[in-house]
Amino acid sequence: MAILLRGKSECPLCGKIIVEEEAILYTSFTSNAKDPLFMFSDAAVHTACNRHHKLGEKAMHYSEKAMFLTARVNRKCVVDQRLITDPDDHVFTCLLTSDESEELYDFNFITINRKNILRYSDRENFILAALKFNKEGKWGSISNFNFLDYLLTSFNFNKSFEK
Ligand SMILES: [Zn+2]
Repeated sequence: MAILLRGKSECPLCGKIIVEEEAILYTSFTSNAKDPLFMFSDAAVHTACNRHHKLGEKAMHYSEKAMFLTARVNRKCVVDQRLITDPDDHVFTCLLTSDESEELYDFNFITINRKNILRYSDRENFILAALKFNKEGKWGSISNFNFLDYLLTSFNFNKSFEK
């Protein structure tokens, strides 16, 4: 969840510092720096700016979804429907792309127990969609930690997919 430092935090929508105005705190809901919604992720935003921005409502929807699905009581594995209690077993794809025409869109917000990944029927489809998306230059990272690479590793990607 974003932290609001009044007098310091800059609203990414208007570029102005948030002082006393009403603000929305977004949770981190996407790691894809190339997604149009990325600027909202983990940001503090003026409520008024959010209301007027054409993507404001959509961003809010995904932020709330991410928050809901990562709550401990909602971490149910897509494979066996059981609650994931060990944080080390919890793999969550979050929002990979907000573009509904992308194959990768179907893999947004997947919760899976690391121990069940090899039994996930869509594992190969996910890997292929992620590789394609990446190859087309649609994934962006702003730090050395590349979340998509991390997911590919978690889903046991190996070189045989790169044909
Ligand atoms: Zn603003």
